Amino acid sequence: MGWQPIRKDPSRWRVAPNLPDYHQARAEFSWNAVRRELSGLPDGRGLNIAYEAVDRHVDQGRGDRVALRWLSKEGQVEDFSYTDLRDRSNRFANLLRNLGIGKGERVFSLSSRIPELYCAVLGTLKNLSVFCPLFSAFGPEPIAQRLERGDARVLVTSERLYRKKVQALRHALPQLEYILLTDSTADQPDNVLSLSRLLQESETQFSIPQTDPEDMALLHFTSGTTGKPKGAVHVHNAVMTHYLTGKYVLDLHPEDIFWCTADCGWVTGTSYGIIAPLTHGVTNLVDEADFESERWCRNLEEQRVNVWYTAPTAIRMLMRSGLKPREKYDLSHLRLVHSVGEPLNPEAVVWGVEALGLPIHDNWWQTETGGIMIANYPAMEIRPGSMGRPLPGIEAAIVHRISESEVEVEDHPGCEGELALRQGWPSMFRAYLHDEQRYRKCFAGDWYITGDLAERDADGYFWFVGRADDIIKTSGHMVGPFEVESALMEHPAVAEVGVIGKPEEMIGELVKAFVALKSDAVASEELRLELLGFARKKLGSAVAPKEIEFVANLPKTRSGKIMRRLLKARELGLPEGDTSTLENG
Ligand code: AMP
Repeated sequence: MGWQPIRKDPSRWRVAPNLPDYHQARAEFSWNAVRRELSGLPDGRGLNIAYEAVDRHVDQGRGDRVALRWLSKEGQVEDFSYTDLRDRSNRFANLLRNLGIGKGERVFSLSSRIPELYCAVLGTLKNLSVFCPLFSAFGPEPIAQRLERGDARVLVTSERLYRKKVQALRHALPQLEYILLTDSTADQPDNVLSLSRLLQESETQFSIPQTDPEDMALLHFTSGTTGKPKGAVHVHNAVMTHYLTGKYVLDLHPEDIFWCTADCGWVTGTSYGIIAPLTHGVTNLVDEADFESERWCRNLEEQRVNVWYTAPTAIRMLMRSGLKPREKYDLSHLRLVHSVGEPLNPEAVVWGVEALGLPIHDNWWQTETGGIMIANYPAMEIRPGSMGRPLPGIEAAIVHRISESEVEVEDHPGCEGELALRQGWPSMFRAYLHDEQRYRKCFAGDWYITGDLAERDADGYFWFVGRADDIIKTSGHMVGPFEVESALMEHPAVAEVGVIGKPEEMIGELVKAFVALKSDAVASEELRLELLGFARKKLGSAVAPKEIEFVANLPKTRSGKIMRRLLKARELGLPEGDTSTLENG
């Protein structure tokens, strides 16, 4: 904690922050007041995310403003106004209706960041179907598992991704009726259809049906330490959190150009790469290309980005590149920089002040919370290394579990415990799809237990300590060790596998597998490379291990569970802790 706080000087504000006084906003907070800032569907027909994000701006006379500014990989710039987005998403909603896809049915995407994807998300929400994004760097196995578990009816993807990652496993997905190809002009057998043809044939008029705020809207998969990936269910009411955090945390003002660098395959890419900025009527910048330090700095300059939301891995890569962005680029339009997804080291916060001319505002949330829960706000002092304070309307605490249904709240500042949130905020996940038991386990009494360990200081700032489980965070993405272990176990030479996250300076943690071979297999460099390739082919680059180490055997509990905690302690040369349950301990 020994870093100097970064104080804010109101005389230097170019725009008055939406949250000038944190304590006052907390004291006066009401979700009803937030609801009144949104429009609701005309004629009291409920609350629909897509209406709040797009149509209401058109209905209120702001249809000509640029909603989406898309930069293609090749550098072409294309603008879509709020009216364009309304019409295009209406076409997608009509297309679904024409295909017989209705309320609650799941529409998945596996796509790069292209305009069609954004229209598909919004059109799906308008039709009251449920949108579920997948990350395009997943391999065939994680994709098939999620399509199956999420009961996918429609998949929006490209020809290349379909052929490479889905086609071979489609026979095992009988519910997946339609594949809509974003880059094909002709239909193909097996209901592999041209999205552009279908869109052209669909009407631009669509009336959003009555939407109960509790209607399911989004499904986001996240990894567990055991078992299958978990599908976190979110409802239309989540738009209240998206809007509120867009206002208080991102500090969006209508004239802003906003850039969220997250991919739509992850929850940040949907909540903050689409919904939150659009609910504020800003211009939302989307870059199809992936990280490249000079390109990103050029985007900030040329697109005159005012508010930038990115991730620690990207910030660390910029730091490593040696580039001092503001010496080379005009960043005078940049007002705020935010970061999420993994711990943001204090050095990075302070680097921002020097290299960007602005400190980096860290914030914390998870797939399950649907939106930002703890944050550093523009008008509030930053304590480098802290995630900030809970959003007005959110109660966060450090707790200790006493039993399955009870926790004790830690009153003393500086004590480590599990980070918990008092349940009931609008974007709280409503279920893990098809897994009621796992969902219930996340709660104890009034509290949702996040699975993170943290501390709270005397002034209510929260400090991240680590995960309470074995989940791996690599480049800001969750990887479940079980998923990786299961894939490697399918190789004929492998007897047992234990997978851990090994700390790595740039990407936070890298996926490392310890492999015990069958008695007839021989450890060799060739086999190690073969296993790396085998896992990569199945799992894709986002999930596959980067390191494999052969071991004679793995530490196990007496009940036969591999002790990943011990593998990690050994890898890091740390004390092994309690080994009383170790098989041969
Ligand atoms: P996901 O559900 O993939 O968004 O991952 C959520 C998890 O990422 C949290 O439970 C944390 O472990 C981690 N995380 C997110 N934001 C932060 C942050 N600002 N600092 C530290 N860890 C974070």
